Amino acid sequence: MPGILYQPSSRRRFVFTAAKAFAGAFLIRELNLIGEEVAQKSAHFALLSDTHIPADPKNEYRGFFPWENLKKTVPQVADARPEGVIIDGDAARLTGETADYEAVKQLLAPLAERMPVFIGLGNHDDRENFFKVFANPPGTRQKISGKHVLVIERPSLRFVILDSLLYTNKVAGLLGKSQREWLGRFLENADPRPTILFVHHTLGDGDGELLDVQRLFELVRPQRKVKAIFYGHSHKYAFSQDDGIHLINIPAVGYNFSDEEPVGWVDALFTSEGADLKLNAFGGNREGDGKTKSLSWRS
Ligand SMILES: [Zn+2]
Repeated sequence: MPGILYQPSSRRRFVFTAAKAFAGAFLIRELNLIGEEVAQKSAHFALLSDTHIPADPKNEYRGFFPWENLKKTVPQVADARPEGVIIDGDAARLTGETADYEAVKQLLAPLAERMPVFIGLGNHDDRENFFKVFANPPGTRQKISGKHVLVIERPSLRFVILDSLLYTNKVAGLLGKSQREWLGRFLENADPRPTILFVHHTLGDGDGELLDVQRLFELVRPQRKVKAIFYGHSHKYAFSQDDGIHLINIPAVGYNFSDEEPVGWVDALFTSEGADLKLNAFGGNREGDGKTKSLSWRS
């Protein structure tokens, strides 16, 4: 006679399977909660800059084809499944023609159908033509006369895309007094969520850079919630700091100016503590392709 601990195998299997199913459901619920928690605490964006899209797909510069490059970038970005895309200026080839923006829109369509694509303006953009093609761009537009400034709010972070377009197809850029005053008021009144700024122009003191960069630094240094400034313009990939604020030069999608620089985009995972930035270099110097740089925010 079987002992009292004996259980028919079917019954044992049932208990085991039920326990596994229960554990599985529990695990799935846990993982979903973790997933939600990660989504609450982070923001995942594809960062592009200087796409320089011409109306003519055959347009070439230094052996690069900007139209082809963006075409190539779009499925890479789609595969990374970010929640949005930020383009840090110079979307158009050189003079911000309406036909350039039509091409930008067409190339970005597979992404724009799935996620917001936020486009900032650079010195090769034309604000009026941009709005002819992108009449209702995503992001919360700020009321600053003559400037296109966007704010993107996430549960644990905030992104501000500034407008340094001063004049089209000349090199220098300027935020200008009204935008700086707006930014000062905005940061003063904003809750302490980490805030990340985007601007097209480089942050040096050259004549072709952001002409009011020192006034921008004076404004953001004491605002401890400002953790990083991303910029483009130089078609370089570089990292530096000012008073603990990370300054990140996003590489160009269109072409580089020197063979040492990558051509590509950055897959960025932001949290309230810092960011992981993964370079996707498909052209130029590809040495850093796939490498991730981790940043920690100042307190
Ligand atoms: Zn550029």
